[in-house]
Amino acid sequence: MSGANGNSDACGCDSGHGSGSALTVEQAHERVAASIRPVCGHETVAVRSALGRVLAADVVSSLNIPPNTNAAMDGYAFRGADLDSDGCAELALVGTAWAGHPLERSIGPGECARIMTGAPVPKGADSVVMQERTTGAGERIRIEGAAAGDNVRAAGEDIAPGELALAAGTLVRPAELGVLASLGLTEVPVLRRPRVAVFATGDELFEPGQPLKSGGLYDSNRYTVWGMLTRLGMEIDDRGHLPDDRSAVEASLLAAAAENDAVITTGGVSVGEADHVGAVVREQGDVGFWQLRMKPGRPLNFGHFGDAMFFGLPGNPVSAMVTFYQFVQPALRRLAGAPYRVPAALRARAGCDFPKRPGRTEFQRAVLAQAADGTPSVAHTGHQGSGRLTSMARANCFVVIPADSAGFAEGEWVDVQPFEGLV
Ligand code: AMP
Ligand code: MG
Repeated sequence: MSGANGNSDACGCDSGHGSGSALTVEQAHERVAASIRPVCGHETVAVRSALGRVLAADVVSSLNIPPNTNAAMDGYAFRGADLDSDGCAELALVGTAWAGHPLERSIGPGECARIMTGAPVPKGADSVVMQERTTGAGERIRIEGAAAGDNVRAAGEDIAPGELALAAGTLVRPAELGVLASLGLTEVPVLRRPRVAVFATGDELFEPGQPLKSGGLYDSNRYTVWGMLTRLGMEIDDRGHLPDDRSAVEASLLAAAAENDAVITTGGVSVGEADHVGAVVREQGDVGFWQLRMKPGRPLNFGHFGDAMFFGLPGNPVSAMVTFYQFVQPALRRLAGAPYRVPAALRARAGCDFPKRPGRTEFQRAVLAQAADGTPSVAHTGHQGSGRLTSMARANCFVVIPADSAGFAEGEWVDVQPFEGLV
């Protein structure tokens, strides 16, 4: 087959660099995952500042969570032994327990207490019946259809003292912030944020705000990459543009690698005469791979300069984003201390044809929505050229089409990676 961009690609392997065959997407994930060690060094930060960071140590609880055995419903607390075989009882009301204001007496046989959600269950009681299953007012309460032990949340049922609440390596999301706060913590140790240098390469690039000269175009890659890095919580060292000049590329990459945990470039990784990035990595770095059987994104360079991880992304704006989401994002999460996770996919029904030639894994830009019958349905965003950034801007997911597939017809089930969301 030949690539749609016209590069010869007789076996999915491009020999333009004169070595090695292109890896599959799966092989590339294995290689990246195996070669990244998380950053060392941590700091203690206020709990809220831990959002998006990775825990540097296990968090072990010193408390019961919840701290008290409490009511899960508004209703009446009573002793389960008082129920008859139909789940009924007639009880004497002896007081009220509020959240934050426990009832300071115990419940004896034949007694009950009004109780609000979250209030500690008074001593002697072991069950709560919801208000809707009771009748009566004043001193006598009739319960119907209750069961012993109902609607009680036991102290420590979520987290017991001495239990591991959150493991080292956990990415702190809003739920983890809440768990930390529920333990009464004000500070937490987190790994330091990886420092990532970013360059765009190309003599044709201009910064927005500058007048555009003949043959020039505005750099969009440093903006998309900045956005993706910012969302990942990285410390960004934006190093601007590099000219298509071998010695400038070499000096700048080596200098950036000496001061950062990772270096990301865009452009200059193909086989053109102005493509110097790949050559510099092969001569000065440790190469992990530089050709993948994927589309877009075949000329993706991965390796190390000394201790710094390096990704040379293709210059085409869509290719740069696709390769970032597939490989750079999981790699940076791992560098930050979290596990390496291959992007997860879910299944949706193709709302249109997804044509493709066998040979490379394709990441087509698409919109995932819910069809009228409730099934997830996905349709592509039109022209899929790797220079058409609006195909990404209009999309909310990738449709992932396996290397050996010849595409999908409307109505078939396809793999979808949402850009955002729970996966
Ligand atoms: P390259 O990988 O350097 O051969 O670039 C491939 C294509 O992407 C060319 O059409 C470039 O002009 C374009 N390109 C490279 N870098 C950028 C960038 N930072 N922003 C927008 N387009 C770019
Ligand atoms: Mg270029």
